[in-house]
Amino acid sequence: MECKRLERYLSRYLEGELEGELKDKVEEHLARCSSCARKLHRLEAITGILRGLGPVEPPENFVSLLSEKLQKETL
Ligand SMILES: [Zn+2]
Repeated sequence: MECKRLERYLSRYLEGELEGELKDKVEEHLARCSSCARKLHRLEAITGILRGLGPVEPPENFVSLLSEKLQKETL
């Protein structure tokens, strides 16, 4: 598989959407190609960060905590 073709599959690979032969081919390529392996790690880091940010509810007292903090810092 060529690097350019593999790139298209990387995000799906990360999501665990690849199966069977295609997944094997991607893994095989990643094992041999360090530049694609690096790309995968970068993509992994980015998607990990995005997931971490996900739909998070701020704590109920978030605003008062924040204004308290701001006040302390400005005083
Ligand atoms: Zn490659």
